[in-house]
Amino acid sequence: MKVPLENDFANLELSSGLLENLKTLGYEQMTPIQAQSLPVVLRGQDIRAQAKTGSGKTAAFGLGLLAKLNPDHRRVQALVLCPTRELADQVSKEIRRLAQGIPNVKLVSLCGGKPFGPQKGSLQHGAHIAVGTPGRVLDHLSKNTLRLDNLLTLVLDEADRMLDMGFADDMQQIIQRAPTARQTLLFSATYPASIQTLSRRIQKDPATVVVESQHKPGTIEQLFYEVKKHERNNTLLALFEHYQPESTIVFCHTKIQCAEVAQLLTQNKISALAIHGDLEQRERDRVLIQFANGSCPVLVGTDVAARGLDIKSLTAVINYELPHDPEVYVHRIGRTGRAGATGLALSIATPGDMVRVKAIEEFTNEPAVCDVYESLNRQDSFKIYGHMTTLEINAGRKSKIRPGDVLGSLTGDAGLPGSVVGKIDIFEQASFVAIENSAAAQALEYLDHGRLKGRTVRARRLSD
Ligand code: AMP
Repeated sequence: MKVPLENDFANLELSSGLLENLKTLGYEQMTPIQAQSLPVVLRGQDIRAQAKTGSGKTAAFGLGLLAKLNPDHRRVQALVLCPTRELADQVSKEIRRLAQGIPNVKLVSLCGGKPFGPQKGSLQHGAHIAVGTPGRVLDHLSKNTLRLDNLLTLVLDEADRMLDMGFADDMQQIIQRAPTARQTLLFSATYPASIQTLSRRIQKDPATVVVESQHKPGTIEQLFYEVKKHERNNTLLALFEHYQPESTIVFCHTKIQCAEVAQLLTQNKISALAIHGDLEQRERDRVLIQFANGSCPVLVGTDVAARGLDIKSLTAVINYELPHDPEVYVHRIGRTGRAGATGLALSIATPGDMVRVKAIEEFTNEPAVCDVYESLNRQDSFKIYGHMTTLEINAGRKSKIRPGDVLGSLTGDAGLPGSVVGKIDIFEQASFVAIENSAAAQALEYLDHGRLKGRTVRARRLSD
């Protein structure tokens, strides 16, 4: 007989359906956050957990809420609040995958920037789990399209960001409408005083779960460059030329700085897009699509705007400006070096920023390694462009387009090899497909004049 290892999911009080499904998903061992929180969550106790994206936190609360769910009772029994639509989408996806182990579980996504009607329809139809952003969830509660009388589990995911983004009031109002006899699971990447206060107000006897190291030491190479303020731009360009990262997020402090830095890079033949809080959802979607599918190798963003991105294989994180809070630094650089790959975290610091470097050293308990501008190799006629081109097609989910339809028409009728077709994203009214640059013209020619699912469509290049 196989003896279960300490971190085996089999040690948990989970139904055989959920356990079997975890095997199918290839989840063999619990991640540290899961091993620490799941036994407590399954006992029914509240937790406040410090964990970031990539730690497996979604399954930590997802399995908890699924274990309690009664599928025969088509009422919302679990509500997950997330700061951004991107995070809510990721969380929904992961819970849906975990829920494959239980027949007929319905999850509804309630995010702003999406039409209200279909969400209302799904709720009327009966949903067990709701995942959404606070503003829209509150809208549904106010209109009585959502009721929380049967709620068993409330999850706050990235609670610190929800507070940062000004959702405190909305959250408060939502929680007031939930039954007091519920389980509340609070996840936060950082643990400022505001989170402690929130936890005290809304949780009962919560267990605290902290996963010690945020990343394995050595998997992220961290270097600091001390330069004068007016040398920052030149240093940034030199960092790109020297390290030639394939995919990078450059962190800035303000929206204006994001726009300026993105422009600086573009003018110097480094293809970059800015993402900040002022972008409309439509623009934001388009930026994220191009970054995630390899059309645009550099994203320039603020902490809030870059929140919730689940970009695999990020080569480098560059701090154009260091954050005041060392925890934010650790969170930023944790986006590189995931899944066993070595990451690169490069920080530009002006003499005035050296106090921030000191704070980071103290917080991480590691000496900061400083390098000098002169050690960076500048390159002539240097450029970084994405290897893919994004094509936008003017038909989406509403026209019942699925990824397979797009792939099928490109590899079938248009005669392109499947290897040149990259990520396909389907939205309500539009679809996006990434094509290797060399084949983009041919794909565009076909899509713009061809047919998709029996209808004539138009297509255009999203990136220039
Ligand atoms: P999260 O931190 O929830 O965003 O999860 C990060 C990724 O890890 C997701 O793609 C999950 O599907 C995956 N994952 C979560 N738990 C496990 C596990 N125990 N074994 C393998 N992969 C996992």
